[in-house]
Amino acid sequence: MEECPRCGASLERLSLGEVSTVACGRCGYADIPVEHDSEGRDFESWQDALERFYDGAAGSTE
Ligand SMILES: [Zn+2]
Repeated sequence: MEECPRCGASLERLSLGEVSTVACGRCGYADIPVEHDSEGRDFESWQDALERFYDGAAGSTE
């Protein structure tokens, strides 16, 4: 059983059609899988966001 990364409660497994994911009933956390196949641009922006994260972490408290 997986645990919520936020509050540590047991995650509930949900089936959304062909996609399976987990969600926390206590704090509302949800782990939504990213589909790289259909949304290539989202993957690029995600990479960009990650670079910004490391950039900001190195230069400020953000
Ligand atoms: Zn939770």
